[in-house]
Amino acid sequence: MDLLQYKYVVVGSGFFGSVIAERIANDLGDRVLIIEKRDHIGGNCFSDIDKETGIEYHKYGTHIFHTSNKVVWDYINRFTEFNSYFHQVLTTHKGKVYQMPINLETINSFYNVNLKPFEVDGFLKKIIKKENNKETDSFEGKAISWIGKDLYEAFIKGYTQKQWQIDPKELPASILKRLPFRKNYNESYYYSRWQGIPLHGYTKIFEKLLANKKIDIILNQDFFDIKSSLNKESTIIYSGHIDKLFDYKFGKLEWRTLSFEKEIKEVEDYQGTSVMNYADIEIPYTRIHEPRHLHPERDLDISKTIIIKEYSEKDFGENPYYPINNTQNIELLNRYIELAKNYSNYYIGGRLGDYRYYDMHDAINAALETYSKIKSNNKT
Ligand code: FAD
Ligand code: UDP
Repeated sequence: MDLLQYKYVVVGSGFFGSVIAERIANDLGDRVLIIEKRDHIGGNCFSDIDKETGIEYHKYGTHIFHTSNKVVWDYINRFTEFNSYFHQVLTTHKGKVYQMPINLETINSFYNVNLKPFEVDGFLKKIIKKENNKETDSFEGKAISWIGKDLYEAFIKGYTQKQWQIDPKELPASILKRLPFRKNYNESYYYSRWQGIPLHGYTKIFEKLLANKKIDIILNQDFFDIKSSLNKESTIIYSGHIDKLFDYKFGKLEWRTLSFEKEIKEVEDYQGTSVMNYADIEIPYTRIHEPRHLHPERDLDISKTIIIKEYSEKDFGENPYYPINNTQNIELLNRYIELAKNYSNYYIGGRLGDYRYYDMHDAINAALETYSKIKSNNKT
């Protein structure tokens, strides 16, 4: 393969890299090379079929597509249809199952009361007043001022400690924004206008995105091992780690990772739902996924199911999942962003390049915006 021929080189075949490669090939009409260090395309959204059961599962954790962004929704629908899966989550605390995010059903069941939505604020206010907590700006302070100590300790504290392995007092309150709190019976995990699972799985989307013959892909190849053989004039779209691009000059950005333990159970339905959270610190995993529930439209005639236990761990560079957005890491990131300004032939992005937690629709949106810049720079 003549590596010098490519005007465009994309590092990483997740949504960020694949959408840009698709646009360069199909809209700009140029050749593009994708370099991917894993043995498959699709980044963390990769889905596969379990050979023993025929059940499709998401290798890097359950992925639910959801968005309120029409541009993204219209774009992705050119590459897949979605099923009518609607994401609800349950959580287990002291052996009892509750709805999550916390809603009126959770509160009524937890306190064994029968409140109406307009009574929730008054009820919680009384509890919070009795608890007499000092409000602080931390994750814990904000959460307690919001829902009170009882609910916080039951559903948030243990889960968060397992997830982050940091005292919740030291976590930024911004993490809480990802978790709604409802005073009605709405059980939807998301507020998004559209949601679902791709009818034929995520990997098929990537195969379609990258189907144009002008796109070449090299798997099992780290960019840094062939960087020196590429054309120096190439435009590089880089969705790897930003700190690695600069050889960790100022130090490493920290991440949390996950490990997954897959088991086959000899029953048709193990837990009755796709994701069950475990709120208590004594249970070592944070949640159990049961992917069979993601495709209710598939008529699988098999009395087996897969369950996947998820454990949160410190990342040592192998599989970074959640950026740890504390002050130290943000300062480090800003120093790398400054350096990146000198790399005029690089477009750096995606969750690793931006060191941001992106949902899939965010990554696609960022890719489409970045492509617009590439296109307009191509004209000048
Ligand atoms: P990635 O998918 O990580 O792709 C980056 C690619 O670059 C990888 O394939 C990597 O191997 C490759 N790469 C990196 N460095 C190099 C190198 N040096 N050389 C070659 N290749 C390299 N989003 C949702 O919308 N809904 C969900 O339900 C959801 N659930 C999630 C659950 C978990 C556990 C996690 C961690 C994320 C979840 N997400 C979810 C987020 C989703 O995974 C991301 O939005 C998406 O993966 C971002 O795409 P990306 O292209 O930026 O990064
Ligand atoms: N969280 C919690 N209890 C739960 C679920 C979430 O305390 O049952 C908190 C936890 O701190 C977590 C954050 O809310 O990091 C965001 O949760 P989300 O489910 O969005 O995390 P993700 O799906 O990204 O793992």
